[in-house]
Amino acid sequence: MISIRFLGTGGARFVVAKQIRASGGMWMRFGATQIHVDPGPGALVRALSTVPPCEPPQLDAIVLSHKHLDHSNDVNVMIEAMCQGGWKPRGALLAPGDAFDHEAVVLPYARKFVPRVERLTERCEPISVNDVEIRTSIRHHHGVETYGVHFRYGGKTVSYLPCTRFFPELVDDYREHQPDVLIMNVLRFRDTMDVDHLTFDDARTLIGGIRPKAAIMTHFGTKMLEQDPRKLARGLEDEFGVRAYAAHDGWVYDALV
Ligand SMILES: [Zn+2]
Ligand SMILES: [Zn+2]
Repeated sequence: MISIRFLGTGGARFVVAKQIRASGGMWMRFGATQIHVDPGPGALVRALSTVPPCEPPQLDAIVLSHKHLDHSNDVNVMIEAMCQGGWKPRGALLAPGDAFDHEAVVLPYARKFVPRVERLTERCEPISVNDVEIRTSIRHHHGVETYGVHFRYGGKTVSYLPCTRFFPELVDDYREHQPDVLIMNVLRFRDTMDVDHLTFDDARTLIGGIRPKAAIMTHFGTKMLEQDPRKLARGLEDEFGVRAYAAHDGWVYDALV
């Protein structure tokens, strides 16, 4: 059993600053293994206020795709909660090297609580967290060090494609992993500004090229929200014949293994 709970589906500074959509990241369960991905602002509060709550002391790993605040703000408090204030060290922390070095977002004192720290690199060797195998993508084009994450468990692959400017090599990299589920951060609807984020049209290109069995859009900016992401997802189903979803806060995607 794989399940993905969306503790937040907002992206872009304005949506996050006003909490039009929450920004707590994703709480993934692969059998008994629990992994929190991209704990942005409010992650701890969102985790504890779900029914039943997502329990930080049961976490096996925290993963950051990159260090921007909307993905990393709550990383230190999540580490403390996972390791019960440092009294019960447990779990792993996986993050790009620059989350620890220049303008570090992981505080040195919090880092000491975690028994295992993995600095993510491009297309890394598989990292095991219990029986989940984690690999990274090629480096994304997104200002700070950013990697996509491929989770393999029970013969299924969940790929998370976080923020990036579109470039064609993304298609080859993600297609190689043949994702059953592809989660994409689709911040923008159409390109009115030249920024390092995917537009909805980029997402269409990626789905057409990667051909996952299911595609989930999340991390929406205001223009995407104005367009009604659920309607856009239905359009993707018609166009590509894949299951397509627009995530919303608190939503749980369940996949049987
Ligand atoms: Zn973001
Ligand atoms: Zn970012």
